[in-house]
Amino acid sequence: MIDSHCHLDAEKFAGDLDAVLERAAAAGVERMLSIGTGDGPPELDRAVRLADRYEQVYASVGVHPHDAAKMTPRAYDDLRALAGNEKVIAFGEIGLDYHYDFSPREVQREVFIEQLKLADSLQLPVIIHTREAWEDTMALLRGHWRGPGIMHCFTGDAAQAEEPVALGLHVAFGGVLTFRTAETVREAARVVPDDRLLIETDAPYLAPIPWRGKRNEPSFMAETARKLAEVRGTTAAEIDAVTTRNFERLCLRPRNVTRYTGVSDGD
Ligand SMILES: [Zn+2]
Ligand SMILES: [Zn+2]
Repeated sequence: MIDSHCHLDAEKFAGDLDAVLERAAAAGVERMLSIGTGDGPPELDRAVRLADRYEQVYASVGVHPHDAAKMTPRAYDDLRALAGNEKVIAFGEIGLDYHYDFSPREVQREVFIEQLKLADSLQLPVIIHTREAWEDTMALLRGHWRGPGIMHCFTGDAAQAEEPVALGLHVAFGGVLTFRTAETVREAARVVPDDRLLIETDAPYLAPIPWRGKRNEPSFMAETARKLAEVRGTTAAEIDAVTTRNFERLCLRPRNVTRYTGVSDGD
């Protein structure tokens, strides 16, 4: 299996990351995409450094909507340079978060659009975060994005799940799928076509049942895979096969663009 979204750079993993990665491998989670947003600019290379250190870890780069207000011209340059690393396989997580409003909504929208443009020029699939901002997120994607991507940690209903699918995006389900009250999310998980389905943990957040409320880690994804299989009337092995194939096609195919290599300009 591939965990398509986790935050291995989180403080909560600082003490025992090697053990976490060993448990992931033992649970069949062979590869992981560590999201590179960290605490926002100026430090945007945390996931890249992990990907350099661990073979089974890939990285994304991007600025989370929470940190949109910290964006600077220099941060855009840094993102472009970091994307030259061959382990960087996606751009994100980017989007809109109107739940916390850590950055003004107008700034979130601006930075989202600018990062969609940057991801397009880098030929990277985007990872979309949206919370209490569904309409605005979809409107901006419809207006500014033509490429592949992932609607991460999907928690909407079946009708909403059709929208990213219609745009050509993938939909990723995480631990929320196992929550007792998440029947509408399970309904959504039934309507996503096989070839658009992905699975994730969002570790250290949102641990599946029976670890709800505890620190999440990639090895726990087996529970989400089991639930996803039950909901879709298939086997966990089939979920593994389908989501691995989808991730590989989306993020691991060779890109025949010359990516900016981040050559230092000496400053
Ligand atoms: Zn997110
Ligand atoms: Zn995340």
